[in-house]
This record gives sequence, structure tokens and C-alpha cells, in this order.
Amino acid sequence: MVGKNKVQQEKAFEGKVAMVTGAAGGIGRATALAFGRAGACVVVADMSVDGGHATAAMIVEAGGKALFVQTNVTRANEVEALIDKTVSYYGKLDCAFNNAGIEEEYLHLADTDEAMFDRIMNVNVKGAWLCMKYQLRQMVKQGNGAIVNTASVAGLVGAPTQAIYAASKHAVVGMTKTAAAEYGRSGIRINSVCPGVINTPMLARALEREPSRQKSLRNLYPIGRFGEANEIANAALWLCSEQASFVTGHQLTVDGGLTAI
Ligand code: NAD
Repeated sequence: MVGKNKVQQEKAFEGKVAMVTGAAGGIGRATALAFGRAGACVVVADMSVDGGHATAAMIVEAGGKALFVQTNVTRANEVEALIDKTVSYYGKLDCAFNNAGIEEEYLHLADTDEAMFDRIMNVNVKGAWLCMKYQLRQMVKQGNGAIVNTASVAGLVGAPTQAIYAASKHAVVGMTKTAAAEYGRSGIRINSVCPGVINTPMLARALEREPSRQKSLRNLYPIGRFGEANEIANAALWLCSEQASFVTGHQLTVDGGLTAI
């Protein structure tokens, strides 16, 4: 009986089509693999060709179905083509995890510059906006869908030395709430997941620049450790699932208690 339940749980996305951006590594890869294990046809989108192909190959090796589409989420024509390819290949789009994002060097606001502002806003805000814009057009035609955007705890509270990143993630939260209100009656749910510090290549890059931060950062976490990518994947899949059928416009904090204190 336990075995049967496990299979049912694992295949909760059988017959569904799920798209994940930023899926060449980190949280995106973990979520694409989780969708694949749960039975979904997975569209893997990323700028990185090698990493994107590798994620798709991992899904196929595990017995799933995947298509890699090289995409820069800051370019409208590429995002539109991504959704078009998804629909022509798999016929529809049920779930989308808009996760591609970049981090900021640790700097006080007065030391940041215009190029940094434009780079971060372009990927984190424009990228999420473009993805939602074209995904929503398809989901409205279908009359259903679920979207999850990756925000951050920096989308809920201030993040000293990361003002631009925090602004970009607050913008993601604002778009999530607004889109949820606009499209609820079209059968589409839109939520965000707000991770604390997660063990990914992004974190490795940040700590390489400032290794001394590791201990002080970790000490902030009531749970005593950083998170793992699969812990965000679990949250994203739940938000996309039928289990969350009355959840929309919500920011799901997955942060080991960081923002509880
Ligand atoms: P990562 O750097 O490990 O992976 C990000 C992926 O996004 C990479 O594969 C990269 O190639 C891709 N990407 C970057 N720019 C892109 C673009 N323009 N178009 C398409 N793909 C692009 O990062 P991660 O830690 O897995 O982060 C994933 C998301 O989670 C980001 O939005 C990040 O801001 C957010 N987040 C991460 C943490 C953390 O501690 N790691 C915490 C909170 C939120």
C-alpha cells in the first residue's frame, strides 16, 4: 500500500507539461528533475547550452521526457519562441517555473553602478515579466495553468549590500500578486517561492568573492544550515500541484526560519 501511494505521489504530474527557466543548474535543474520524476514532460530553458542539454539528458536517463530550448529570458523574441516550441512539441503548457536569475556583488547602495542596476533588473524583472506575458497568453487559451516565480527572502525584507537584487525580487513579488489577481478567473494560479540562502552555484560564486561571509550568514538561520536546491523544488512542485488548488498570489517562504525572527 505504501509503495502504491509513493508511485501515485511521484507521478502527480503525469500528462502535464512543465517549463523551467534557469534550468541548467542550481534550483532550476533540481526542479526540472523533480518535474521529470513526477511524470511531466519538461521543457528545460536556459542560456547555457551545455548545462541545459545536461539537465535534459538527466531527465531522460531517469526515464522522463525533456526538451531543451536555449533561451535568454531577457529577449522577447526568444521567450515567445520558447512558448511556441513548447506548444508545438508537447501541445500545451500546464506549469511554468520562472526561475532564471542573477545575483549582485555585495556592495552598499552608494557603491553600485548603472550597469549593475540594468543587468540585474533585465534578467530578474524583465525576464520574469516576459516569461509570464507569453505563458499567460497560452494558459488563457487553455483556460488553466499554474505559474511559480522565484523571488527570494530579499523580495520580502531588506537585504543589506544587495539593494538592487532586493528591488528586483520585490518587483517579482509585485508582479506575482498582480497577475494572480488578473488571471484567477481564467483558471490560472500564480505564486512565488521565496528561498533563503540555498546551496547552488550562485551561492558558491558569492562566497568565493567573500568567503568570510559563510559563517555569519549561516548563523542567521534558526535551522542551523543553508537550504538545498531540492527543498525549493519541492515547494515549487507543490505550488503547481492540485494540492495547492486554492493557493494563488502567495509568497511561499522556504528559508529555514530566517524571516521568522
Ligand atoms: P544559479 O546561478 O545556480 O542558476 C541560475 C541559472 O539561470 C543558470 O543556469 C543561468 O545560466 C540561468 N540564467 C541566468 N541568466 C539567464 C538568462 N538571461 N536567460 C536564461 N537563463 C539565465 O542560481 P540559483 O541559485 O539556482 O538561483 C535560481 C533562482 O533562485 C534565481 O532567481 C535566484 O535569484 C533565486 N534565489 C537563489 C538563492 C540562493 O541562495 N541560491 C536565494 C534566493 C533566491
